[in-house]
Amino acid sequence: MVEPLRMITPQERSKAIAEAGYNTFLLRSEDIYIDLLTDSGTNAMSDRQWAGMMLGDEAYAGSRNFYNLEAAIQKYYGYRYITPTHQGRGAENILSQICIKPGDYVPGNMYFTTTRHHQEAAGATFVDVVVPEAHDPSDESLFKGNIDLAALSALIERVGADKIPYVCVAATVNMAGGQPISMTNMKAVRALTRKHGIRIFLDATRAVENAWFIQQNEPGYGDRSVAEILLEFCSHSDGCTMSGKKDALVNIGGWLALNDKHLYEEASALVVVYEGLHTYGGMAGRDMEAMARGIEESVQDDHMRARIGQVRYLGEKLHGWGVPVVRPIGGHAVYLDARAFYPHIPQDQFPAQALAANLYEDSGVRAMERGIVSAGRDKLTGEHHHPKLELVRLTIPRRVYTQAHMDVTAESVAAVWDERSRARGLKMVFEPKYLRFFQARFEPI
Ligand SMILES: *Cc1c(COP(=O)(O)O)cnc(C)c1O
Repeated sequence: MVEPLRMITPQERSKAIAEAGYNTFLLRSEDIYIDLLTDSGTNAMSDRQWAGMMLGDEAYAGSRNFYNLEAAIQKYYGYRYITPTHQGRGAENILSQICIKPGDYVPGNMYFTTTRHHQEAAGATFVDVVVPEAHDPSDESLFKGNIDLAALSALIERVGADKIPYVCVAATVNMAGGQPISMTNMKAVRALTRKHGIRIFLDATRAVENAWFIQQNEPGYGDRSVAEILLEFCSHSDGCTMSGKKDALVNIGGWLALNDKHLYEEASALVVVYEGLHTYGGMAGRDMEAMARGIEESVQDDHMRARIGQVRYLGEKLHGWGVPVVRPIGGHAVYLDARAFYPHIPQDQFPAQALAANLYEDSGVRAMERGIVSAGRDKLTGEHHHPKLELVRLTIPRRVYTQAHMDVTAESVAAVWDERSRARGLKMVFEPKYLRFFQARFEPI
């Protein structure tokens, strides 16, 4: 997809961000110069994918595109039973409903917004069991997405295995800065959970990017292809939820994959309630075809090298200039450390939200808050969660921007960094009930 970029004046940007309540989610796309809000559904599709869009079999049931998609997931991810869903959260809803009983605990390597919401809505308490270094933006460990095995064991000991329906393993960990989990850790989690009869479900949204980090950084995997590593990685889990809008190089779609036939039957019964028939799950035939082809393109080593190489280019440039970013640079985004930008703004005045707004005002680059606003409130006490990480995410869409766009972005971040002592906090003037970061509104203090 090729489209023109438009740049509006600084005065127009100040007006636009004020009208958007200082929330970048509420800006209009046409007022953005470079859009790094998210890598979700912002992928540019290839010639082969667009050709596939012309081959949509829009039958209500048993579309040939479904079988192509099923075959691609079985081949590259290795799971047995698959149902499409309209996007990742559709799969999360169904998995949570079929597996969780009220009073259960779901451990995971850091929360993700929609994932935790569905787990809690089904009656579970989310327990963060990511390794401690994940919470330290300057720690240079290579696999900061790993699960803390001692913390997981302690939880099993404390609440009992029968209260833990599954471990939710995310690869790579979005909220920690796109940080990968190692194969060694995944195997160890498998060994531990097997002893207790606990399942593992993968949030496979960026598992291909995770496989690339294993290839690059884990001993023994340097000469294996990304595709081979992905297949091995998934083999240590019992199924996955997937947002195809990320790794799978499409604009919409997702799936739920399960190896257990009985669980799949339960899932199918709910898919027809929330998504659509189990052979389309809320997706058009043409979109399933594009996703089937996107999966195959996504596991090519050259694609991953270019994709993650671009993210790294931006991150290393900023790091080289002394701008505080989460280290090491992750797979899909560069994360600015808003605490280090604005030590004078207390967390309750939303420093990352303010930083994202300031970046937009400077250059029209749109980023996303990943800090206290995204973390939401404790479901029992109603207090803000206070995450250790207070970040702004510069998320790079796949196959969309050039190195020149990365340079413009880096220069704008540097300009905002130079002005940091003048920045002020925000107060929240409207707070939605669920997933507040999407729609909350703010005013400058
Ligand atoms: C985007 C995302 C989801 C949710 O998927 P949607 O397609 O947006 O519903 C779940 N987990 C992670 C890690 C994600 O990045």
